[in-house]
Amino acid sequence: MSVDRFTLNQCRNIFQLELPERSRLYRLPPWGIGTADVESLTSYIARLATIHQVPTGVLLRLFVTPILSQLTDDLKRVSHSFWSSFGSDTGAWNGLGVMAFNCSQGLSSLTKQDHLHFLTLLTWNQVLSHRGLVRGHKAWCPACYQEWDRLGVVLHEPLLWSLKLVTVCLRHQQRLQYQCPDCYRPLPSLEWNSRPGYCSKCLTWLGKIPDSLLEASLALDKQEQAWQTFVHQNLAQLLAAAPSLPSPVPRENIARGVNLCINAVTGGNAKAFADLLCYSASVPGEWRRGNALPQLDLLFRLCYCLQIPLLEFLTGKVVLDQPVSLIPLPPHQSTRKKYRPFDSALVQSLLEAALQKDPPKTMRQVALDIGYDPGDLFKYFPDLCRAISQRYKCRQLKA
Ligand SMILES: [Zn+2]
Ligand SMILES: [Zn+2]
Repeated sequence: MSVDRFTLNQCRNIFQLELPERSRLYRLPPWGIGTADVESLTSYIARLATIHQVPTGVLLRLFVTPILSQLTDDLKRVSHSFWSSFGSDTGAWNGLGVMAFNCSQGLSSLTKQDHLHFLTLLTWNQVLSHRGLVRGHKAWCPACYQEWDRLGVVLHEPLLWSLKLVTVCLRHQQRLQYQCPDCYRPLPSLEWNSRPGYCSKCLTWLGKIPDSLLEASLALDKQEQAWQTFVHQNLAQLLAAAPSLPSPVPRENIARGVNLCINAVTGGNAKAFADLLCYSASVPGEWRRGNALPQLDLLFRLCYCLQIPLLEFLTGKVVLDQPVSLIPLPPHQSTRKKYRPFDSALVQSLLEAALQKDPPKTMRQVALDIGYDPGDLFKYFPDLCRAISQRYKCRQLKA
């Protein structure tokens, strides 16, 4: 009888236990939420696939696409938009748009990790424009990978690396890399075989420092380094603060902050303010009226010149109750961007000429010389770009 009662009590206790809800996928803790080193959502997905010992593409096809269709109740449309952006546009999954929202929601539902939206920029989707915000392809610091590997730190891809404005690793004073050191190809933020620290095309270790890196890091000028320090510090504050802020941060903060700045600097004259910061004439007025959201690169000019921390500006804590004088923009920021069409015949002839030149140059240097983004050049002329890189590498090996 006593044994029966004891067993019954035990059963009662078991039924009263509050067990956490079961998750479909491993409840992998995200890396670094609440710090400047927070990983990106694409990094999290690739780590999750590695832990399940399947390619990233398999994890997405078997688990993520079906859950996304449940969230939006339209499997065909979701599946089409998901797989059409896969590989080519997966950088947007770390951004502040619908793909970042759907993917973080879907992954949270599968892993029962509630805060995966902090691996994206969704906190800022009411106060920042998506234009020019996240890069479509990976950027990484080989020295960071080497260091994490040596210290046993989990290999991950910081969200900071996915932001277009970040071009150097301040910790190692090196330029971020954009091409695999072995196959010389740019790597989409997420594709079938993605895994942090490795090339998703040829599986090479990305902690390998390419021969061109020393040259590239030497080419980093002081002005760019100073600008990057300012950019890094402000973005690091933003990423670290995200979990402690209302989400999303209210849109009215922009109109209010810009209005204060225009009043303090040019007495309310938006066009004069635009001239001082090298903006198009209508830009500050549009921000002030709430008709447009600021691009991050343009907003950094304002924060730099008025010495306002970006976090304070975006969270509506700007106080400017008397006229202020502007700090001059660094020269590389003080020219208006010139947009030009991609002249493929001209670019092809310039690349062919670069392939014949002695001594050979790195692909990055060639891209700088002809004034185009290396990713664009590789996209349109992969064979020529690969040949230029390989010629440089061969010459280095012989030297
Ligand atoms: Zn580094
Ligand atoms: Zn590769």
